[in-house]
Amino acid sequence: MQELKKIMQTYGIVGAGGAGFPSYAKLAEGADLLLINGSECEPLLYTDYVLMKNEMTMVLSGIDAVLSHTGMKKALLAIKAHTAKSLGLEDGERLGDKIFVRVLPDVYPIGDEVGLTYEATGRLIKPGCLPITQGVIVYNVETMYNLGRAIRFSEPVIEKWLTVGGAVKHPTVIKVPVGTMVADIFKALGIEIEDGYTVLDGGPSMGKVINPRTYAITKTTKSLLILPNDTQSVLSRKMNVKMAVARAETACCQCTRCTDMCPRNMLGYPLEPHKMVRTAMGVAEAMPEMVLSATLCCGCGICESLACNQGISPRAVIENYKQLLAKNKLRFNLDGDYNIKAEREYRMVPYEKWMSMLGVSKFDKKADYYGEMKDFMRVEIPLAGHIGAPSVPTVKDGDFVNKGDLIASPGNGLSLPQHASVSGTVTLGGNKIIIDRVR
Ligand code: SF4
Ligand code: SF4
Repeated sequence: MQELKKIMQTYGIVGAGGAGFPSYAKLAEGADLLLINGSECEPLLYTDYVLMKNEMTMVLSGIDAVLSHTGMKKALLAIKAHTAKSLGLEDGERLGDKIFVRVLPDVYPIGDEVGLTYEATGRLIKPGCLPITQGVIVYNVETMYNLGRAIRFSEPVIEKWLTVGGAVKHPTVIKVPVGTMVADIFKALGIEIEDGYTVLDGGPSMGKVINPRTYAITKTTKSLLILPNDTQSVLSRKMNVKMAVARAETACCQCTRCTDMCPRNMLGYPLEPHKMVRTAMGVAEAMPEMVLSATLCCGCGICESLACNQGISPRAVIENYKQLLAKNKLRFNLDGDYNIKAEREYRMVPYEKWMSMLGVSKFDKKADYYGEMKDFMRVEIPLAGHIGAPSVPTVKDGDFVNKGDLIASPGNGLSLPQHASVSGTVTLGGNKIIIDRVR
């Protein structure tokens, strides 16, 4: 286990599909099941699908490495039904000595660790706890691919696979150096961002709005989506939070629909968005313990884009409470029995319906692999590209670095090193390291 931790840390391996949790920190004693998240929960994303289609051997070698280093008995590769069909895989199919396919229903959401673990294994993670408490460690498909390459080629994480999709002629999956400028990718692909369109890093439900002129690809970028401003997806992503909270405080009729449809509530979690909406912000500021259950929200947006008919966003209200709780270092932690609601089975949201609610159905064309794009002249590598302490530069202005060289060592505590994704000359840019290739 310690050896694997060392490998994951040395090569800068970070959760490739989420918030950027350093992968080594997930390894802990007591796990018997490795769960690989290939669910590609968000619509329009085909990154993991393409990775599994083209690089399954490397993905499996990463999974094998985790199994052999930790002694875990079994791994499940969890993929949605439509992905399984495209890859020609079946539920229960054996992919290796201890690796099996687990086919998930085509519903949203299913990729967050709580929902995924329950759906794939039947084990329910208690509110406020991590998968390890149920003997499960969850990694993303691309994380396993990166681990496979680290072990086979001694290669740090310096490449990123991502979908370029949405309102483009041909959605594609590309592989680029970490730190590549989005503007350079769009130029190389002949994509122009017209007025009235927005670019997201991530999916249409939970992605973040970025400035395509200045943004650089990070180790966690799964997609670049170009979407019209009038889609529900973009309206939701650009929502004015202050206005959303004010509207919630005045317009909610307390119909409870948001709670009835909340996937966390249906798993038995004590999260009731309608009550969060009812709590005034001022009261929450005075007594933040009142809104502790906000930390149980996975941010899926069902309450906002599907459940509420009054145009209210419980998600935005809850997001505000989450920030309040983080500021006060408060977390939900309650022992007890939680019972999954019987109606959950019938209330899960079909993937197609979710795409339609977000206004993105017409953009759902299966992306295929475009290829590796690497002839860019500049990369910008963030020092805080993961959860935890920022990395600390080990290079200075004007240094020449080769592809793969260490350019920043881990900060104190939870942290990771950074490596040069191209060869070139370094400029320190505050919270990032810029590398310009020599012409
Ligand atoms: S669905 Fe909308 S109106 Fe109904 S309780 Fe929730 S926020 Fe209020
Ligand atoms: S975003 Fe809304 S529906 Fe989703 S988990 Fe949070 S409260 Fe529940």
